Amino acid sequence: MQSSPHNTRFLRRSLAAVWHPCTQMKHHEQLPLIPIARGEGAWLFDMDGRRYLDGISSWWVNLFGHANPRIGNALKAQLDTLEHVMLAGFTHEPVVDLSERLAALTGHHLGHAFYASDGASATEIALKMSVHFWRNQGKPGKNRFVSLAGSYHGETVGALAVTDVALFRDAYADLVRGGTCVPSPDARLAAAGESAADVARHAAAALEAHLQVHADDTAALIVEPLVQGASGMVMYDPEYLRLARALCERYEVHLIADEIAVGCGRTGSFFACEQAGIWPDFLLLSKGISGGYLPLSIVLTTDSVFAAFYDDDTARGFLHSHSYTGNPLACRAALATLDIFAQDDVIAANLRTAARLGDAFRRAVGSHPQVRHLRQQGMILAFDVADAPVGFSRRFFAEALSRELLLRPIGNTVYTMPPYILSDDEIDFLASRCAAALEASLG
Ligand SMILES: *Cc1c(COP(=O)(O)O)cnc(C)c1O
Repeated sequence: MQSSPHNTRFLRRSLAAVWHPCTQMKHHEQLPLIPIARGEGAWLFDMDGRRYLDGISSWWVNLFGHANPRIGNALKAQLDTLEHVMLAGFTHEPVVDLSERLAALTGHHLGHAFYASDGASATEIALKMSVHFWRNQGKPGKNRFVSLAGSYHGETVGALAVTDVALFRDAYADLVRGGTCVPSPDARLAAAGESAADVARHAAAALEAHLQVHADDTAALIVEPLVQGASGMVMYDPEYLRLARALCERYEVHLIADEIAVGCGRTGSFFACEQAGIWPDFLLLSKGISGGYLPLSIVLTTDSVFAAFYDDDTARGFLHSHSYTGNPLACRAALATLDIFAQDDVIAANLRTAARLGDAFRRAVGSHPQVRHLRQQGMILAFDVADAPVGFSRRFFAEALSRELLLRPIGNTVYTMPPYILSDDEIDFLASRCAAALEASLG
């Protein structure tokens, strides 16, 4: 793949001036950066005119395709009306409409919305709110957190306290206040004759054993409902969420559902928690909520949490300031995204798309001798590669790109989390090019 001299110069400028995330920059000596010029639907187009099917929704954010005219037009109208106003002491229509619509989607169980711009901040806001809640209740000792083995809730210093990915955490360990990890209900751990629900029950028993001893110093349990994304699309039975909800009730510990990755229809229902028939005390949204257009994150919580802060005393109020809180453009993008969910009955349409996706991947890689645990939860599909060579994930990424496909494995786990708008032909393309990239990166 040869770039024009102009584009080669552009890439050199980019590597000199831009420090890329989640990247060892030296690896770009071998692996070229891809300069993207534009997007359209599920496709990205680079400056040399090559195209790539965006099989991971640009890090799980883009739900309805790139350059979506419905979201774009809503934003253009908002741009000419109000781009931003501070949310302390002021309010505006997009933030009120969005808060009301999200409350309605939770059946008004979570009727209060607090805003920030990135997922890690939403995590930190929920952690702060939980601890401050208990403090306002006269229980300042309840200030520690429990998360699941392999959890990912963001990478700021506060969020790392509940993120269990060694690579992201080890170098900063001295900065981070450690929490407790309890066993993950990972369905792959089922012994012969055991079901995913059995694994969930064992994991819940371990959670209970921890809470029996530590309820007095624990503020909250934080989970990624149904799918632990960043640790490799670990999927588990909704029974775990039901049991965890009941245990949190019994031991007076908040349940924080981090739906930053799994919310917004990704797992088959608008909120993943709906599949367990539970509501958490805090629910976090980001990534897909703005359709992949603008940074936005939201913490939804209950009347009872809200009421614990409602007081004449400023210090009992929730004190967290962020310049762009409730930005009207980001809220407008989210409203346009929710409009698409309602107008196109996206949850129902996704059932069919997800079934088709599963069929295509079972045909393409299901009988490959090195493919293990082919698994799916709605519009997330993943499999593990046994006996993968060293450097597999980077090699696969490059082989996929050379086949017009953007997929970026996590270790030896290949996954797709595509935009919801894939056509049948695009699904077949995704599965067959994935199979070819797999073959090429094992050879
Ligand atoms: C991506 C992610 C986050 C962090 O969101 P950022 O916007 O990247 O800070 C938190 N939790 C989960 C489950 C995520 O997938």
